[in-house]
Amino acid sequence: MVSFKRYIAFFLCSLLLVACGSVHESSNELGNWIKNDGKVRVLATTAIVQDLVARIGGDDIKVVAIINGNQDPHSYEVVKGDGEKFTYADIVFANGLMLEHSGSMQYQLKHHKDVVFLGEELLKKYPAEIIYVDGQLDPHIWMDISLWSGSIDFIVDKLVEKDPAHKVLYLERAEKVKREFSEMDTQIKERMQKIPESKRYLVTSHDAFNYYVRRYFATPEEVQNGSWRVRMQALQGLAPDEQISVIQIKEIIDHIYKYKIDVIFPESNLSRDSLEKVKEACIKRGKKIRLAKSTLYGDTLGGKSYLEMLKYNAEVLEENLDEDGSH
Ligand SMILES: [Zn+2]
Repeated sequence: MVSFKRYIAFFLCSLLLVACGSVHESSNELGNWIKNDGKVRVLATTAIVQDLVARIGGDDIKVVAIINGNQDPHSYEVVKGDGEKFTYADIVFANGLMLEHSGSMQYQLKHHKDVVFLGEELLKKYPAEIIYVDGQLDPHIWMDISLWSGSIDFIVDKLVEKDPAHKVLYLERAEKVKREFSEMDTQIKERMQKIPESKRYLVTSHDAFNYYVRRYFATPEEVQNGSWRVRMQALQGLAPDEQISVIQIKEIIDHIYKYKIDVIFPESNLSRDSLEKVKEACIKRGKKIRLAKSTLYGDTLGGKSYLEMLKYNAEVLEENLDEDGSH
């Protein structure tokens, strides 16, 4: 018994040490970021934006993100310490298209002296590429790697404006990132198109995968005539913080029946509960359906890099959609 207690005490101490270590590390990281050492201080709203800016800026900039881990970017409200980041940031890069739609985030973004909204810039440059859902702009632009790659130039332009001395390095890194993105885009397309067409239907917690489905699941004809949309259905809309109605559950069940779907996908930043309800309702009606064992990364990276996240999602989709396949 004593040894068990000792074991528990040791375990708790270890946890505490780990926790203290990480707090200490993150406050150090923020301290280093704030310190004036001549490097441009960049603030990204999400980890996805941070990943891209860091690839381009390399060691010549310092970049931190407001929304990290598996925090939901739609509903995220500014907390203690975030205001400081906005105050010290020379540049803020935001995803935009109202992804960061909480009142406190909108207030900070509206009042900062130098914000680049990547989504709005893409909308100006490539209006035909931006997806609307029920008249609303879909902010999940990073899900189509080729489209996300289009925002690299806006980041380079702003970094060069603030720090012209490193222009050549920013441009060189940007070219490298574009090549890597293009390779990944091709890879994902090849992998997804190997899944039988009749299985390429995605049902998730919220509407985060429209760009993904249009780019990687659809046939060229479907992209042309807009019918790719039937390949993506979600229980909740573009922002997952809405109440789920009985009608929404009924609609999704009808969709599952119509397209003979047998797997639905939970997302990393959202609860599985609502999808469990859909599953139970389907089973009651005699339709066999299961929840994918692994969760998809919808709005977050969960500590992964952007490219790692894409690879991971592709594996989850292959494993679950094409169970009888040779992958
Ligand atoms: Zn989302």
